[in-house]
Amino acid sequence: MRAAVYQGAQRFEIQDIDRPSPRPHQVLVRVAQSAICGTDVHAFMYDLAPPGHVLGHEIAGRIAELGADVEGWAVGDRVVAGGGDPPPDANRGAFYTDPRFNYRTMGFAGSRTGGYAEYTLAEAWGLQAIPDAVPDAVAALTEPCSVAVRAVRRSAVKLGDTVGIIGAGPIGLLCMQAARAAGATRLLVSEPAPARAQLARDLGAAAVVNPREEDVVERFLELTGGLGPDVIFDCAGIGNTLDQALVAVRRRGQVVLVAVPWEPMPLQPADWMAREVDLRVTFGGDPSDWRAALDLLASGRISGEALISDASFIRLDDIQATFEALMQPSSQVQVVVDLGAEAG
Ligand SMILES: [Zn+2]
Repeated sequence: MRAAVYQGAQRFEIQDIDRPSPRPHQVLVRVAQSAICGTDVHAFMYDLAPPGHVLGHEIAGRIAELGADVEGWAVGDRVVAGGGDPPPDANRGAFYTDPRFNYRTMGFAGSRTGGYAEYTLAEAWGLQAIPDAVPDAVAALTEPCSVAVRAVRRSAVKLGDTVGIIGAGPIGLLCMQAARAAGATRLLVSEPAPARAQLARDLGAAAVVNPREEDVVERFLELTGGLGPDVIFDCAGIGNTLDQALVAVRRRGQVVLVAVPWEPMPLQPADWMAREVDLRVTFGGDPSDWRAALDLLASGRISGEALISDASFIRLDDIQATFEALMQPSSQVQVVVDLGAEAG
């Protein structure tokens, strides 16, 4: 099968590798669509992924083969590879208890064969069925959508709130929609890339501030009568965005750090401590967040389609050029590797 195998030093190579065979309790998934995640771009950019690794964890496909002792799934079932409920005996405890495991070491420690390949293996318990109303390319966004759902569920957002979103990439645009589904009635966005800013407007942002041309804190205050948004989600996690959020949020408001900053960020607590601002972080999504994400995508309360256009789709052969382009601030919103067209 064809796979984009990471070589190290910001190089992918498209290789023919053996199609993996499912062991007991595993299934083989024929990948239809694999969305490219910011985490994978960071793994590429900072050369964090181990050589020989196939990246990609935002996967929609069909079950191609069942390992022994798999119950509840059939060949041909449409699934997202992730978000299932782990059985009580699944050993996932180290992630939570061993301090050596952190985002840097855990992010890439999973299966060697991810979604940038024609087939991938998954534990049978790890899958979620795709509702009929959700097309494959949207289903591939279930993982980032579960991140947005979790961020909002961990937040204090309530009916009638004004919510600030810093960064209108896929996660920011999904967070914005999740916050609205949770009751936020006014959405203020900071985003420099014109295509992403326009999409935020199309999705109902009351205002989109350009951080390269305007002072985000000043604008957020102006737009809220000097009070600041009730909750701000930092979906950029770069430069001074977290400090901006902490300064701009209202007194006793809340900032949720959603993006994973890979470089130190300047913070000046004297500027926001006196306002007793709360800071929360959020990480990934648990099975209930994945289910909520699929329900919200199926009902249209979160539009995955809005993030995707014809220009979103690339083929496996384009992956090197695409990752190089994604290291720069891009006009692209969401890129999806279409593996369905390469069936064989
Ligand atoms: Zn992701």
